Amino acid sequence: MKVFKFGGASVNSVERIQQLASVLSLYTNDQLLVVISAMGKTTNALEKVAEAFYHDRKEEALQLFAQVKRQHLTTAKYLLITHYNQALEQLTQLFTEVEWALHDKPVRDFDYYYDQIVCLGELLSTTIISAYLNEQKLLNAWIDIRDVFRTDDNFRDAGIDWNITSLHVKEKILPQYQNVNMVVTQGFIGATDENESTTLGREGSDYTAAIFAAVLQAESVTIWKDVEGVMNADPKTFPSAQVISELSYDEIIEMAYYGAQVIHPKTIKPLQNNNIPLYVKCFLNASLPGTLIHNKSIKNLPPVIVLKSGQVLLHLHSKDFSFMGEKEMSGLYHLLKENKTVANLVQTGAVRLMVCTDDKEGRTDQLAALASELFDVQVEKGLTLLTIRHYTPEVFAELTVGKLIVLQQQSPETIQALIR
Ligand code: ASP
Ligand code: MG
Repeated sequence: MKVFKFGGASVNSVERIQQLASVLSLYTNDQLLVVISAMGKTTNALEKVAEAFYHDRKEEALQLFAQVKRQHLTTAKYLLITHYNQALEQLTQLFTEVEWALHDKPVRDFDYYYDQIVCLGELLSTTIISAYLNEQKLLNAWIDIRDVFRTDDNFRDAGIDWNITSLHVKEKILPQYQNVNMVVTQGFIGATDENESTTLGREGSDYTAAIFAAVLQAESVTIWKDVEGVMNADPKTFPSAQVISELSYDEIIEMAYYGAQVIHPKTIKPLQNNNIPLYVKCFLNASLPGTLIHNKSIKNLPPVIVLKSGQVLLHLHSKDFSFMGEKEMSGLYHLLKENKTVANLVQTGAVRLMVCTDDKEGRTDQLAALASELFDVQVEKGLTLLTIRHYTPEVFAELTVGKLIVLQQQSPETIQALIR
């Protein structure tokens, strides 16, 4: 059994869905479990629907939702002939579910409604794609993963119930392979024991694939992307970026931690526990080797460069010139937790703490206000965090030339600079 995951970019147009089918046609001899994301920017669009609904802007919510509907109907119309009517019926049912909900008034918290609305993106994309694949004689069974993936009710970041999920996989997924070689299902979503929809956190489809792989003891997971594999830098910013052919689980986790948009960080643990290799491959050219990620430490990696823009640095100064000790540090981390903020970089001095975080609208001001009860606070915005793993002094110099370095930290493996 192989587990495949196709992200939003690989299903964002009629052409790309056709391309997906041609990739899958190379694997007709394998049993496949195919996890698919919402098409293109659908999740973002549905987030806007949820926000409008929650803030009592019903008309706007319905209008925004109508756009999502239109896009999917257009795609279905272009792709499908013999399977169009059946798909249309399924899509209509899914639309109706959400439209009903949009006519209610919100009485529960935002995260609950977010999940009930946003989960639709994956249900719509897989409905269309499964029908298209069947029409192309790539016979598959469509599964509503909400009948399989049981989670807690921590909406928007739901935790998986491994026992019940494993049981469901055995009862509801495995029997499908008596009839077809392929099961098509949704990434990113699940359901509680009360049948409320949940989501696993943005970009969570990678994690879905890993959970399946672990439960099914799959031979491998392949994440199909629009790049040639995992690269040592973003090719849009660094045209000379190169594909890294082999990486360890540990290295990919480090890269994700520092902000490389490669793989959802939760993906690795289930794979590592079960020693299942992860491939990152290009769906535009399946013959390229891509990247293999597994349990092996790899020597001589090229410098891996990650840039995170939109950073803010909080300068926290002790109010009474007392040293920065455990009390101040725990005060700081308490604030961060309360404000749901992650510290990207922290530096301690005698009477000063510096904390770099993502500059999120609203959050930064709130954090600064909270912190001002404990410290004198100054806020410095508009910064970029540069991280280089496996750096050389030459590469670091090249990437920081002409820049003002506000803060710098390094270990033998990694160097970080906050630059303006
Ligand atoms: N569609 C979801 C998102 O955009 C999940 C995913 O793509 O992995 O975050
Ligand atoms: Mg995605």
